[in-house]
Amino acid sequence: MSYIEPAPIVDKDNPLDSMMSRFDEAVRLLGIDEEMYYILKVPARQVVVGLPITMDNGKIKVFEGYRVIHSNILGPAKGGIRFAPDVNLDEIKALAAWMTWKCAVVDIPYGGAKGGIACNPREMSAGEMERLVRTYTNAMLSVFGPDRDIPAPDMGTGPREMAWLMDEYSKAYGMTINAVVTGKPLVLGGSLGRVEATGRGVMVCTMTGLEKLRINPYKATCAVQGFGNVGSHAANLLDERGVKILAISDLSGAYYCQKGIDIAKAMEYSAKNNNSLEGIDKAFGYDKISNEELLTLQVDVLVPAAKEDVIDEEIAKKLQCRLIVEGANGPTVADADPIINEKGIMAVPDILANAGGVTVSYFEWVQNRLGYKWTLERINRRSDRIMKDAFDRVYQTSLDYKVSLRIAAYIVAIDKVAKTYKYRGGY
Ligand code: GLU
Repeated sequence: MSYIEPAPIVDKDNPLDSMMSRFDEAVRLLGIDEEMYYILKVPARQVVVGLPITMDNGKIKVFEGYRVIHSNILGPAKGGIRFAPDVNLDEIKALAAWMTWKCAVVDIPYGGAKGGIACNPREMSAGEMERLVRTYTNAMLSVFGPDRDIPAPDMGTGPREMAWLMDEYSKAYGMTINAVVTGKPLVLGGSLGRVEATGRGVMVCTMTGLEKLRINPYKATCAVQGFGNVGSHAANLLDERGVKILAISDLSGAYYCQKGIDIAKAMEYSAKNNNSLEGIDKAFGYDKISNEELLTLQVDVLVPAAKEDVIDEEIAKKLQCRLIVEGANGPTVADADPIINEKGIMAVPDILANAGGVTVSYFEWVQNRLGYKWTLERINRRSDRIMKDAFDRVYQTSLDYKVSLRIAAYIVAIDKVAKTYKYRGGY
């Protein structure tokens, strides 16, 4: 087997395999040589640490923490920190590589990284979380840095955790270093617009996709899977632009309303209900449907904004939408791609669709380094333009190479990183 044969998919639920098979296809189309293939494939650095934490019951529990720097060819590595029970090194490796491609697609000067800890934040007290974040930060003092590797929130973490991280890092160096992390609370040098940024980018990609498909947004319908930071803001911003959101979901279940879900009210409900939509069907008279029903609804747009591997071959066969905009990282397994393409569904891939978050993270880092604060108007204008330009670049590449938007996005990204490496040179 030659080195650029697609890697066999041993475990369809492994996001690393999902990522690698798309990477291999794009590499083949670009005609990248063997040396460059391995330079781009093998992560630059993988750090695994044991984190002994005193739990509230007085007992010490040891957590495993990861940070994978996939690439620092384009600049300092960038990527979130995920706290979830099923976090593992393979998943973090895939997510780190996706960050490399994501930053390259939107043309911001960062490499890609990802961190994670296998834990269940829903079952941990604020004190336990704080000790975990501070211990993890200490273990990563030589990895993180404003010019080295800049973490951010991901699933299970948010501004609160980023504040602890910034504080712990700053204390270790004896001065305030706020540019070491993004997604901080506003008062600590966070950026306006960062919280909504990923959802806003999903909205820009949806509006641009609808335009390409000549669908009037005021007549369009949409289903959004996941009502966390990405899904809720994407739904809200689309709702504001006339798109009718027929269904939403979270861990508690999926909810449908033929007249359209009132997103502002749903956000209010979830915020008051411990970040859960549980019981919203009874409160507002919505129908409770299954997760599969939500994904396969007859809608114009499907926004998977929950987690990896939710659209597999079986779901793909039943899809009835015309446009998929991937708010989550890796929501579609590689084997589902050909089915989606055959059905003529336009799928805006994760590395483009959810890049609004890291784009505003970049603005946060720039503002921290300037010691200056931008207005929300400037941030939204600039991030919308970056997202729109990236969409157009990927769309044009898909026409040039006659490939899907997903493969086109990988082509844009891999080409940029490979060319940059050639200029920088190796040993
Ligand atoms: N965790 C987010 C992502 O997957 C944001 C990363 C960042 O802002 O650095 O894109």
